[in-house]
Amino acid sequence: MTVEPLPPGSTIGILGGGQLGRMLALAAARLGMKAHIYCPDPESPAFDVTPRQTVAAYDDFAALARFADSVDVVTYEFENVPAETAAAIAGHAPLRPGARALEIAQDRLKEKSFIGDLGLPVAPWRPVASLGELGAALVALGTPAVLKTTRLGYDGKGQRIIRDASEAPAAFAALEPKPLVLEAFIPFDREISVVVARGGDGGVAAFEPAENVHRNHILHTSTVPAAISPALAARAVEAATRIAGALDYIGVLGVEFFVSGDGLLVNEIAPRVHNSGHWTEAVCITDQFEQHIRAICGWPLGDPSRLAPVVMENLIGEEALGLAARLGPGIRPHLYGKREARAGRKMGHLNHVREPRSHG
Ligand code: AMP
Repeated sequence: MTVEPLPPGSTIGILGGGQLGRMLALAAARLGMKAHIYCPDPESPAFDVTPRQTVAAYDDFAALARFADSVDVVTYEFENVPAETAAAIAGHAPLRPGARALEIAQDRLKEKSFIGDLGLPVAPWRPVASLGELGAALVALGTPAVLKTTRLGYDGKGQRIIRDASEAPAAFAALEPKPLVLEAFIPFDREISVVVARGGDGGVAAFEPAENVHRNHILHTSTVPAAISPALAARAVEAATRIAGALDYIGVLGVEFFVSGDGLLVNEIAPRVHNSGHWTEAVCITDQFEQHIRAICGWPLGDPSRLAPVVMENLIGEEALGLAARLGPGIRPHLYGKREARAGRKMGHLNHVREPRSHG
């Protein structure tokens, strides 16, 4: 299926008004597009950058229909868009990426089966619907292991490490909603991610893998280039490309991996622009936000080439308050305009642009 290009001046509907929706709206504006943000929270940071907004619940089907009728295409900034919301939109406007990407990415069990069926390795796992199943899964996978909710987990919420089988009942009781999934603990050397874009014509443009470091379960830095071999980088890009193709995906997709030695395991996928792709904003000819807007509008994908090494650093909570003192050479700040610097909240990021290596 080829997507007809939308003309400049078209309106892009965005479900979700957080920082990702805000950055998508800014990228849309740069391409001469208009953005309409739909979000239940009137304090959403994306509302600051576009006058077109709907404040309504995701199950307000009348509001969803009005919204979708007023835009040319709808996209989303978070993977937990309810299936009924996606279905309500799809009757009125094209939804890109489509409902299948949401269905897979919302459910770790479906996600792992889907990725495994593509022949891509994932951490050994077992579905866990009862304490009895958890006991059997711990026998099969050993300890330590990681128990996770299948739905609604993010930034380390909805998961517990089980170091000893005696910890199983408390971990099982603590995690909601059920069912859960148990994964073998992977003693990885590093975590990487690939942000890949797929256009309406099936063409793909991948950004280079980023190496990600988490602090308190929240992404702290993404460094590019990652300290991995070119062969491993190529395998990661190939895996992300294969996943995007199998989903018949349109837009930008984030794929997270564990790297141990020469081994590469897919951890999870995110059907949206990704925090570990914020570095592209400072050093790529086309950044991930523009790339997503291009893809969903049926435009040709842009050049993802990187012009310099870079480290993206998230500003969490009060870290954002001392920003002015940190604005030295090579630093590009981006703040999300959130009013309250609550602990653990993503307030902005800094891109530390390094000197490009001389080829002379
Ligand atoms: P997730 O929500 O699945 O992305 O997990 C959040 C973070 O927890 C990952 O980025 C890893 O740092 C860690 N983690 C998750 N699953 C595992 C695992 N099976 N083995 C080791 N670390 C894990």
